[in-house]
Amino acid sequence: MNSRISAISLQTKLVSCILLISLVLVGFSVMLLQQARGDYASMERIEAIHHCDDRLILAIENLAFERGRTNVILAANQPVDLPNLAFIQSRRQLADAEIAASLKMLAEIEPQLVGPLQAEYAKFRQLRERVDVAFNLPGKVREPKLRNEWFEQASHFIEQLRDAFAQLGHSEVAAGQFDLYHKYQFNGIEFRLIAGKSASVVTSALNKAGPVTAAEYQSYIELRAQADYIWSRIAADTYAFASPALLAQKNRIEELYYRDYRSVQEKMLELVMAGQSPGILVEQLAALSVPAMDSIFGLIKQANAEARSQAMREKERAATSLQIAVLQFSLAVGFVVLILGYFHFRLFQPLQKIVLAQKSVSAGETTPFLQAESDRNDEIGLLARGVIRLQESMLEERRLKDIHADMAMTDRLTGLNNRQLLDREIDSVMELSDRYQEPVSMIIFDLDRFKTVNDKWGHLVGDEVLQRTARLSREQVRKSDLLIRLGGEEFLAVLPRTGVTAAVITAEKIRTVLEISPHPIAGVVTASFGVAERNRAESFKNWYKRCDAAMYQAKQAGRNRVTACTEESLPVASVHVEWLSDWESGHAEIDAQHKALVEDANRLMGVALLRRQDPAEILPRLDRLLEHLVQHFVFEESVLQELGFAQADEHATEHRQLVAKALRLKTAYQQAEIKPSAFLSFLVDDVIIGHMIKADADYFTLTRKPAG
Ligand code: GH3
Ligand code: MG
Ligand code: MG
Repeated sequence: MNSRISAISLQTKLVSCILLISLVLVGFSVMLLQQARGDYASMERIEAIHHCDDRLILAIENLAFERGRTNVILAANQPVDLPNLAFIQSRRQLADAEIAASLKMLAEIEPQLVGPLQAEYAKFRQLRERVDVAFNLPGKVREPKLRNEWFEQASHFIEQLRDAFAQLGHSEVAAGQFDLYHKYQFNGIEFRLIAGKSASVVTSALNKAGPVTAAEYQSYIELRAQADYIWSRIAADTYAFASPALLAQKNRIEELYYRDYRSVQEKMLELVMAGQSPGILVEQLAALSVPAMDSIFGLIKQANAEARSQAMREKERAATSLQIAVLQFSLAVGFVVLILGYFHFRLFQPLQKIVLAQKSVSAGETTPFLQAESDRNDEIGLLARGVIRLQESMLEERRLKDIHADMAMTDRLTGLNNRQLLDREIDSVMELSDRYQEPVSMIIFDLDRFKTVNDKWGHLVGDEVLQRTARLSREQVRKSDLLIRLGGEEFLAVLPRTGVTAAVITAEKIRTVLEISPHPIAGVVTASFGVAERNRAESFKNWYKRCDAAMYQAKQAGRNRVTACTEESLPVASVHVEWLSDWESGHAEIDAQHKALVEDANRLMGVALLRRQDPAEILPRLDRLLEHLVQHFVFEESVLQELGFAQADEHATEHRQLVAKALRLKTAYQQAEIKPSAFLSFLVDDVIIGHMIKADADYFTLTRKPAG
């Protein structure tokens, strides 16, 4: 488990942490936002409820007046008079308007309350029509129970509106004083309704022609007690709101209802109970009733107004919190985006690059892409510069290693490769040769009488000769050939894809270049060469032994020559002509000249073979050869004349033809029309083989003395 956690990259962990914190931050903001939205919505609802309350209270107020005054008219014996009718009509109109408005509002807030109210309202209006008919009739002709029916149904409808008001209060979800306000207003309505009922008991009792019954009195006492009980609660609650306006309204009720109206009402009832006429008190009471009842609604409306303004304030506050929450949410999201972006571009991305760079440095590769990171002044900059320094020291180390390796494989004096490189490379050279069945040859050469160079001129000059030998030899071999200083003044070359013939030519080239390049102090230092082509699957040791033996033979044969290790004789004639005893004419001077010509030809052939041959090297040799040739021909012709050689003239003609051809070829060579190799075939085929061996042999019978 632990190792699994530690295997997760630091970046993943950090990103996870940041995301987690961001999630908490954004989540918290969302929560606040939701809460603010909820608060605002509920404040909107509370405001709407209070508007609806307002309409319901007005509806109840006007209905209560309509109920009371209609009750008075129906209890009287006369038809309705105009002022009362006007009062009732105006209250009805107001009530109808408020009922319509409150039903409309209820449909939006608490739709389930609307249906039953509408049904009851319809029934109530039907009753009103019957009441309107009864108004114009004298009391005795009216339906006997209409007044009771009216009062009960009107009360029922009012109570239904009151219940709807109570329902709205229950649905107030917000905390604070709203439910308190609502209960307060509800109590006010209750108080008003009970006060109205108790008044109607008194009114109906007075209008009846007869004394007040015990039951009626009891009902009055009970209603009065109920009203007083509710009043005591209203009075107590008023102090809780600590509102001067509300307190003033409460005091108004105590004046207008309790002090003025109630005292008259009770005094009047006492008189009636005692069998006396109430007299003037009836008018007094009628006059006092409207302001008394109005004062109750004054209290209710004041409470509602206060609740509404409080709701409005709360709503404004909720709106502000909502705005703050939205701002906070946006800030949280912005902050998270900013933080993630910052970490991504300033930390994670550069870190990733540095890690990649570090990995490739570790893998030995170069990484040229940390410029922006290394320019920074912080920890990233430090890290990047560290990786760059690491890379630089890696490159330096590698360079030193390469130099070291090169040094180990290089001979310090000559700059050629040494035996160590030979040991390393030779196996793969032999393997390739075996695999592709290609020839591979070896040349070993050793400077001639080098010891005397050291003895005569000192080691420093000896060293110079060795360096010079290395340089000259290198120019004559291919890049793909291995040229090794074996040690001392002994060298070895391995020539892949080269057979013995071509290897001999290469050896001859080296030999020639050494021969024609004298050291300024030591003069010409020649070398002897052994050449051996590797036999199929032959070991290196054996191959080397054969080649070394060939070199030894070259030394034995007189040095400054190439000897190949081979069974059959090589076609070296095209490169180097060896003097044969068969060619001796017996005439000492002619033989000496013939031998000198062969030597000249050998030299010229060697020079013509060299890689970067210089016409300036070749032309003087060519001229010298031609000069010797002509001198020889002249001398030979005079000898033949002396000896009386029969074909002396033909022989002389052949001489002229040879000289003419040589001059032609020289011109062609000078004009770069032919290569020096064209001379090779001319010298070997026409002069040496064709003329000296064949034509000259014709007079050998004259020049050779008989044996003994
Ligand atoms: P040969 O023709 O038979 O090869 O005669 P040689 O004198 O060349 O033969 P030998 O092997 O007797 O002498 C080789 C000399 O080369 C001996 C030594 O003084 C000299 N030598 C070997 N290595 C170096 C070197 O690095 N610098 C110099 N200056 N001389 C060297
Ligand atoms: Mg030697
Ligand atoms: Mg030597």
